[in-house]
Amino acid sequence: MKIAALAGGVGGAKLAHGLAQLLPPEDLTVIVNTGDDFEHLGLYICPDLDTVCYTLAGLANPETGWGRADETWNAISNIERLGGPAWFRLGDNDLATHIERARRLKEGQMLSQITRDFCKAWNIGHTILPMSDSPVRTIVNTDEGELAFQEYFVRRRCEPRVTGFRFDGVEFAEPAPGVKEAIQSADAVMICPSNPWVSVDPILKIVGAIEKKVVAVSPIIAGRTVKGPAAKMYAELGVEPSALAVANHYRSILRGFVLDNADLKYEPQVKELNIMTLTTDTLMNDVEDRARLARAALDFAGSL
Ligand code: GDP
Ligand code: CA
Repeated sequence: MKIAALAGGVGGAKLAHGLAQLLPPEDLTVIVNTGDDFEHLGLYICPDLDTVCYTLAGLANPETGWGRADETWNAISNIERLGGPAWFRLGDNDLATHIERARRLKEGQMLSQITRDFCKAWNIGHTILPMSDSPVRTIVNTDEGELAFQEYFVRRRCEPRVTGFRFDGVEFAEPAPGVKEAIQSADAVMICPSNPWVSVDPILKIVGAIEKKVVAVSPIIAGRTVKGPAAKMYAELGVEPSALAVANHYRSILRGFVLDNADLKYEPQVKELNIMTLTTDTLMNDVEDRARLARAALDFAGSL
């Protein structure tokens, strides 16, 4: 089965890795959010894209889910010592990615091309695409005013109360080369368990109408996120955070929805939305969990 997977960072990368363990390279394209990207220290940082690439390459830090394994922090410590900004932690190995990417972008290369070259260098067989080559910037509207995404997410640790989102540049951004083709040739589009508001919505805005069966895996388990602010965002926007809220979020495009055993009680309500359900263990603690959930989601998608 050919799959186009839509992913943010940590949650998205885990399921994408599960899918990559099961599908041959030609059958999986991962389309990744770039709304979190930003310029920092004169470099160009793509947190979600790098998380997905490092994870599929086996280079990711297993503890954090982001950044590189066996990382050292000499550069950022010295930057801090010199009075530079150190709130965004960049390890030495990770920095090499951003330095080389910034160099290539300055030369006029496209982000999708650079990502393809990096994936080749990291021996990633499956295709990973940024959602767009044009910059899209997620802005978080909060009770303390507008915040650029990383200011909100990392510097302010998601503390300000969210009142809404804006994706600067989204109306001018075209899907990156290969994105439309990957969706057109897919048997199913799989929305990974990523933050619906700030990881998946920007991708959906870029790709437009999807004329394929779409299956999503809930990033919310028993009313809580495994990591990150998705549940807090629902609550602050006046929606009780739950797997049902996620199903509702995507209701106009979903054929199938995968929710956790802990959320069995929502099955009838999701079915009432005309969405088929699969209830299973959706927590991915290790590499085997990723493959097991991916297997279940693929079988489910195939059955629809
Ligand atoms: P970010 O860009 O790094 O914030 O990551 P994503 O947007 O891809 O993923 C964040 C979401 O992943 C959060 O809402 C988490 O609850 C969810 N998530 C993380 N790990 C898991 C997991 O093992 N299972 C499920 N179902 N969701 C997860
Ligand atoms: Ca992200």
